[in-house]
Amino acid sequence: MLKLPVCPYCGAAYYYKDVKNAAKQKTACCHHCKQRFAVRVRAPRAVLLLCAALLMVLLDFLILSILPNIHLLGLYLTTLCLLACSLFLVPYVVRFIPIDKKDRK
Ligand SMILES: [Zn+2]
Repeated sequence: MLKLPVCPYCGAAYYYKDVKNAAKQKTACCHHCKQRFAVRVRAPRAVLLLCAALLMVLLDFLILSILPNIHLLGLYLTTLCLLACSLFLVPYVVRFIPIDKKDRK
């Protein structure tokens, strides 16, 4: 599930940095075959952040049950770190979708 997207036409691989840049646009152009494809980021990112949020809540409960005297600030920091980590994972859920040329006409 977590892997960097490839070009839907020629299968060209993309670097993390390139996917991150492509995710800012609706469509992108393949660096290899020069064909245009759609970039799908909103729905996968929402699912990723939802999963991350659920995991954080579970982890917070776990930490609280193990360390009942933990300072609330420690809990906040743990949650923030995990949130930052999940944002780093966003390019791994981005998908490149081929644009059907018939639909564009
Ligand atoms: Zn390509």
